[in-house]
Amino acid sequence: MTTDNPYSSLIARQNAFFRTHGTKSYTFRADALRKLGDVIRAHEGEIVQALKTDLNKSEFEAYSTEIGVVLKEIRHTLQHLRAWMRPTKVRTPLTHFGSKSTIHHDPYGVVLIIAPWNFPFQLAIAPLIGAIAAGNCAIVKPSELTPRTSEIVAKLLRGIYLDEYVAVVEGGVEASQGLLNEKVDYIFFTGGTAIGHIVMSSAAKHLTPVTLELGGKSPCIIHADATLPLAARRIAWGKFTNAGQTCIAPDYLYVHESVKDAFIAELKQAIATMYGANPLQSDTFTRIVSARHFERLEAYLHEGQVAIGGQFDREQLRIAPTVLTEITADDPVMQDEIFGPILPVLTYTDLDHIIDEINRRPKPLALYLFAESKQVQQRVLDHTSFGGGCINDTLYHFTSPHLPFGGVGSSGIGAYHGKSSFELFSHHKSVLKQTTWFDIPFRYPHIKNGLKRIKLFLK
Ligand code: NAD
Repeated sequence: MTTDNPYSSLIARQNAFFRTHGTKSYTFRADALRKLGDVIRAHEGEIVQALKTDLNKSEFEAYSTEIGVVLKEIRHTLQHLRAWMRPTKVRTPLTHFGSKSTIHHDPYGVVLIIAPWNFPFQLAIAPLIGAIAAGNCAIVKPSELTPRTSEIVAKLLRGIYLDEYVAVVEGGVEASQGLLNEKVDYIFFTGGTAIGHIVMSSAAKHLTPVTLELGGKSPCIIHADATLPLAARRIAWGKFTNAGQTCIAPDYLYVHESVKDAFIAELKQAIATMYGANPLQSDTFTRIVSARHFERLEAYLHEGQVAIGGQFDREQLRIAPTVLTEITADDPVMQDEIFGPILPVLTYTDLDHIIDEINRRPKPLALYLFAESKQVQQRVLDHTSFGGGCINDTLYHFTSPHLPFGGVGSSGIGAYHGKSSFELFSHHKSVLKQTTWFDIPFRYPHIKNGLKRIKLFLK
């Protein structure tokens, strides 16, 4: 332990609290989760206000994508926690006759949760639900780019928990790195792939296990037989919710050449219905988080041809939902994750060709396919690797507590939500309980014909 790091004493106090075993009982965990749900419900208005100030999120988006999602996660966890905590009985092979085998779900200890700014409430609280459910202590580091939300997360959690149990450390890169320099028992990081590398190297110093919830370019395929009006509506919603600042937003489209014009016409209508004729004036359209991100995104507006949108307001950091056509795979907009309300459209005629293109890129966090043909659906599923996704929808897989959420390859390591969160924040301790009534002698080297006998069982 280093003495000059301000976080070492916090972590030492959490370690000491964890060693009291106080966080482990069902009653303690359930009580902590109920408190969390209650405090969120009691301060719903303040959370909505913070999200409005930080990102101009509408109340509808604040509730549906941040507050409601975590309340549902708490309810689901409370419904099942007792059953999840029970040791799992497993079979015992004949070679182990006389013994019983179980898997115990142990908390790790002190968990560090580092959150991003795009869903700054949900992505700080959802992992915390899993960490608490599994019986851990936790330190939450919200994003500095959404300071009002960071403040409310700190205020709510400090109001209900002692900081030796759950603490909030506010701050930016320095706070994050200060915490990463210390030894904790688990690191849960949500953010960009570049920072994911830094987090994993820090974790390696202490051999700390990590979950990395990262990003990437998530493709969305619209096949020739797709139901176009529905596809357009679901894609417009998936892409422009939170102004495209969603890790699993469709990053770019592959539209079958034969339906391109018809699809763009439907998309135009869907966007107009959702965000009105002038989205820049809309009080419900999320803004870009910072001037740096705004500049990065604005540069993309000069690529290809603007088929829909293209307007922006530098002062208000707003960009209208924009669709770009005449884009090729080599354009700058096709290199990095866009993370904004700009949707490039590429066309195709040969499905296998675009499957191959997708497979040549880093594995995406999500993939979406709009197609009626079962064969096409199967082909895409069988031939691509991605964190998770939908057929004939976007984003919806994220909110099911029964679907583990996470990436693969450079889009992440590990998955959470629902029971997967409990499992992720638990160490699964295998225990064999042996009988003392008898002792089968085969294992001992001095037994006559020992090798011959052991070969009967182990072959
Ligand atoms: P980011 O990686 O810049 O920051 C995330 C967190 O890391 C913040 O709390 C920040 O303070 C901290 N951080 C930043 N630089 C650091 C450094 N050098 N060392 C240590 N910590 C550092 O990410 P962001 O811009 O907040 O979020 C956007 C990215 O997150 C996108 O790539 C997006 O796809 C991804 N994301 C992924 C998920 C998911 O669930 N997989 C969810 C949301 C966002």
